[in-house]
Amino acid sequence: MLLKHTPAEVVERSALTINPAKTCMPIGAMYASLGIHGCLPHSHGSQGCAAYHRSMLTRHVREPVMAATSSFTEGSSVFGGQANLLAAIENIFTIYDPEVIAIHTTCLSETIGDDMNQIITKAREDGKVPDGKFLLHANTPSYVGSHVTGFARMARAMVDYFSEHTKRNYDQVNVVPGWVEPSDMRELKRLVAEMNLQCVLFPDLSDVLDAPQTGRMQMYPRGGATVAQIRDAGNSVVTLGLGPTASALAVQGLDAKCKVQGHVMELPIGLRATDRFIASLRRINGGAVPDSITAERGRLVDIITDWHQYFYGKRVALVGDPDQLVALSEFLVDLDMLPMYVITGTPGKNFEERMAKVLGDRAGRAVVKQGPGADQFYLHQLIKNDRPDLLIGTTHCKYMARDEDLPLLRFGFPNIDRCGHTYFPTVGYRGAMRLLEKMLDLFLDRKDRDAPEEQFELVL
Ligand code: SF4
Repeated sequence: MLLKHTPAEVVERSALTINPAKTCMPIGAMYASLGIHGCLPHSHGSQGCAAYHRSMLTRHVREPVMAATSSFTEGSSVFGGQANLLAAIENIFTIYDPEVIAIHTTCLSETIGDDMNQIITKAREDGKVPDGKFLLHANTPSYVGSHVTGFARMARAMVDYFSEHTKRNYDQVNVVPGWVEPSDMRELKRLVAEMNLQCVLFPDLSDVLDAPQTGRMQMYPRGGATVAQIRDAGNSVVTLGLGPTASALAVQGLDAKCKVQGHVMELPIGLRATDRFIASLRRINGGAVPDSITAERGRLVDIITDWHQYFYGKRVALVGDPDQLVALSEFLVDLDMLPMYVITGTPGKNFEERMAKVLGDRAGRAVVKQGPGADQFYLHQLIKNDRPDLLIGTTHCKYMARDEDLPLLRFGFPNIDRCGHTYFPTVGYRGAMRLLEKMLDLFLDRKDRDAPEEQFELVL
C-alpha cells in the first residue's frame, strides 16, 4: 500500500496541498512556446526550474525538449536578472539561431520584480535581436495559476506581440486549441480543412513534438505556427478558442487588437462537443458538411449504441485540468455514466458552473472541487469512502489506482508512464472512438480478471 497513510476521514484543510492536481505555470508557457515554428523557449530564472520543466515535457512527449535558461545565481537573485537575460539573448541567437525566443518568467524572477518589457526593449536597442528574428514574453509566476494558465498566457503573448489586422480573410478561421496533445492539434487542423476552410492554429505542436524520424538531427522541426501565420491570425474572420481556461485570453486578445470575432467553447472531446465544433465551422463555410465527416460521426454514434451496455451506470472519478474535465464529463454523461468526483487544482472562473451545466440532473450526486485543497489526497479520501468503477487522471494517479485496485484511464498532463497520447488524438469523432475503446478495454480486462472460472466467458 503505497498511500497507506491516507485516512478515509475528510478534514477541512485551508493551508496544505498534498499531491497537487496541477503543475507549474512555466511548464505551460514552455509547451505553448514550442508551438511556434523555430522557437527556443527561454526560462528566466534558475537552472533547476528549466531542468524540471524540460524533463516533465520530455518524459510526456518522449522527445528531447530543448529550452534555454537565464541561470540565475546568488547575484542575479539579489540584483535582478537583466544582465543574465541580455547575455542569454545574444548567445542564443548567435549559437542556436532560432527564429524566435519565447521568454517566460519563474517564481524567482517574478519575486525579484524583473521588468520584462524594459529588458526586451533594451535587448532590441542594444542590437541583440538580429533582423528578422523575434522575442516575446509571458509572465508566469508559479505561485498563482497552473500549467494551464501558463499555456494561456503564452498563447495570449503570441497575439499581443505578432497578430495584426491588414485585410480580412473571410475563408480563414483561427483555432486556439487549448492544452491538448500534438496529435489533437493535427486532428483539429484536419477537421477544419475537411470543412473547406483555411486554418491558423496556434500554438501548433504537431510536427514539432511528434516530428517524423528522418535520420537527421533537426533543432527546429518543420512544424509550429510561423510568426507570419500568427500575424495573419489578425485577418481571420473568427477565432475558435477551445477550452476557456487555456484559450480565452488569446481569443480576447485577437478581438481587442484585431477585431476578430471570438467564440470560446469547450474542447471538442466526445460527440456533442465535436458537433458544436463542426457547427461553428458550418456557420463560417456557408453550411456544408462533407460526407466524410458525416460518416465519421455516424460511426461514432454506431459504436456508442453498440457499446452502451458496457458503459451504462458506471461511476467515474476524474482529476486533471478544468477544460478536459468539463469536456470528458459531458461525454461520460452522454454514455449514461456518472462522474462522481471531479477535481482540479487549476484555479479560474466558472468551473463549477460549467460542470453543473454538463452534469445536468446528475450534478447533485457529484463532488466538484477546484483550487486549494482540491488535490489527489482529497480525491483518494473520497474514493476510500465510496469507490468508483473507473479513475481518469494523470500518471500520478497510478499509486491511488494500485492501492484501491481501480482501473486507470491515463488522460492529461503529465502522462509519463504510457505512450501513444502524442500520436493518437482524443478530440473529434475519431478521438472519441479511441477514448471509448480505451475505456471499454479497461472494463472488460477487469471483468476477465475478476470472473470466477464458471463465469469466464469467451464472448463478452
Ligand atoms: S514552482 Fe516556481 S520555483 Fe518551482 S519549478 Fe516552477 S517556477 Fe521554478
